Amino acid sequence: MRICLDAGHYGKYNQSPADSRYYESEMMWKLHLLQKKYLEEYGIEVVTTRDTQETDLGLYARGTASAGCDLFLSDHSNAVGSGANSTVDYPAAYCAIDGSADGIGMALAQCVEQMMKTSQPARIEHRRGSRGDYYGVLRGATAVGTPGLILEHSFHTNGAVAAWLLNEENLDRLAKAEADTIALYYNLLMPEPEKKSGWYQEEGGWRYYLGNTGDPVRNDWHKSGADWYWFDGAGFMVHNDWKQGSDGTWYYLKEDGSMAKDEWIVWKGELYRVLEDGAMFLGCMCLETNEKGALLTGFGGCAARMAPVLAKEDEAQEKTVSGGTGSEPSDKADKEKVKEHEKEKASGETRRKRKTVKNGMRRRMGSEWRNRRKKESEGKGKKTEKAGKHEVGEGKNNRNKETAEKD
Ligand SMILES: [Zn+2]
Repeated sequence: MRICLDAGHYGKYNQSPADSRYYESEMMWKLHLLQKKYLEEYGIEVVTTRDTQETDLGLYARGTASAGCDLFLSDHSNAVGSGANSTVDYPAAYCAIDGSADGIGMALAQCVEQMMKTSQPARIEHRRGSRGDYYGVLRGATAVGTPGLILEHSFHTNGAVAAWLLNEENLDRLAKAEADTIALYYNLLMPEPEKKSGWYQEEGGWRYYLGNTGDPVRNDWHKSGADWYWFDGAGFMVHNDWKQGSDGTWYYLKEDGSMAKDEWIVWKGELYRVLEDGAMFLGCMCLETNEKGALLTGFGGCAARMAPVLAKEDEAQEKTVSGGTGSEPSDKADKEKVKEHEKEKASGETRRKRKTVKNGMRRRMGSEWRNRRKKESEGKGKKTEKAGKHEVGEGKNNRNKETAEKD
């Protein structure tokens, strides 16, 4: 959509006989600039017939300046008689005689009537001259195929009208209403502001916006990339802190906000472990070293290795108990037997602990996690990367982990 706006007269033209402050040329110049602003907000392309208020262009040339436009609109205020007249008060649209602008002309005249609350109703007029349209601007517009109209904003010979138009706030509301009328008439919708989507660093924190609503995630988990994040009520990503799920399970949100999984957390000088699903581990742990004595991470490693031993527990116990435990065995074979027995005692303990761990994990596979798994599958394909953020957090995380392993 492209519209050509014409400010009517130039310079200081048509002073109001009822209000000496009012010049039609000056007021319509202001009005057409406001119309331009509001029309452009609808994404409408606006061309004007003049660059400056002081320069004039011939009537016909102003009309032909609308070549390629969908509408030519010339702004005026009318006059009646030679002096002030406080009774004549109505807006009129002088439309091209070919009728091409009648609809929008009536719509705009009625808009002016409503805004200015004129005494007489809006009307449209046609004025035929010897060469077609009587008005040069309309003749020019018609010549280039543009529906054209002259919009008279009531009568500046009326002091109340002049005073109303001199009010800048009124002029602004008028221009806005006229732009709205044009947009409505041509079925133009105000372009929606672009909805935020993805990560935004704002107000000192990180928010994640869902593209569909333009709102940030609030009081909820959101999976971005491979990681889960928690956002507080203000929509800010929580980090370096624990978040308790509805089932009581604790999750740790790292420096970069991502939920820790299957790793050690050093928090306020204490060591914590989170499982693969992010749930904080509670209960007894089985720790195992390698041949060098370095601690191996992971759960179930040592328990799994002990499985064959555990399977033979009953059988082995029978054998070793008979060997006695009171005295120091003298020979190597007996010594080995006792060692085996000590080991089995320990592994029996391990097995009980392992059972506790398993129960703990079962408890944690509560509703919260199922919901998150559900979200995860729903959220597939909507992943957005938070560029440059992960590296920092992971680096810190690795340091924590190393510390924990060495300790
Ligand atoms: Zn005029």
